[in-house]
Amino acid sequence: MKSLGLEDKVVLVTGGNRGIGAAIVHVLQELGANVAYTYRSEPDLSTGALAIQADVTDKDAMATAVEQVEQKLGTVYGVVANAGITRDNFFQKLTSEDWDVVLDTNLKGVYHAFLPVIPKLYEQGEGALVSITSISGERGNLGQTNYSASKSALIGFTKSLAREAARYGVRVNAVSPGFIETEMVQAIPDKLKDRIVSEIPLRRFGKPEEIAWAVAFLLSPITSSYITGEVLRVNGAHHT
Ligand code: NDP
Repeated sequence: MKSLGLEDKVVLVTGGNRGIGAAIVHVLQELGANVAYTYRSEPDLSTGALAIQADVTDKDAMATAVEQVEQKLGTVYGVVANAGITRDNFFQKLTSEDWDVVLDTNLKGVYHAFLPVIPKLYEQGEGALVSITSISGERGNLGQTNYSASKSALIGFTKSLAREAARYGVRVNAVSPGFIETEMVQAIPDKLKDRIVSEIPLRRFGKPEEIAWAVAFLLSPITSSYITGEVLRVNGAHHT
């Protein structure tokens, strides 16, 4: 029987209470990882994972969350920076608040999630960091200048941090989902949803689990040991 080598590895997932994050928590638990997740509003009590309330826009709260994970579960091996939001509107209608909250959550939130673990990972000489970018960050999307900017920036962030972290044996990658069936996509009007599906060669939206398996692949010291600075597209060939 083969394994992904994630048994007993401590992994922290941000925004793990619902959507793609909850699927990541579930898949990592199935693979035997020791999982903790952060949430902002309500925890998902259906999993045995360690739930910590922490807003990713709060640097100190994220540092405290990492401390709690280490105290309760032990040395962290991996972080999945999944928490993210949209505040869609056409560019001229976006408010400064829409701009700031999306950049603070989707970009600075990843910085806050990775920062407290980086010295520990460097010291232990192993570890894997994965963030969730987006098809919108790669090819742009109407009404998403703020969101696309945050997700596009994550790609440069990933590639730069990967170059810095490589000498310490730490890998940094990103998964770039297409349109995935979560509350984020359910919020799109039906007519627009039909048009989007017609543009996807696989003719359907993705499932949260399909992103979770890509994340597990990039966390695994077995399946992706020679992959770093990479962006893995999971989008049904919507953008190649
Ligand atoms: P959901 O809206 O379903 O869930 C968002 C998650 O992020 C929730 O767990 C939420 O917690 C958490 N979150 C949001 N803001 C904060 C914050 N400030 N601090 C802590 N947690 C926060 O989104 P998805 O599951 O669809 O998206 C997950 C990731 O995947 C995001 O980064 C998104 O941009 C990306 N993505 C999604 C796509 C899709 O089609 N769904 C496509 C491409 C990328 P709470 O419930 O407590 O608010």
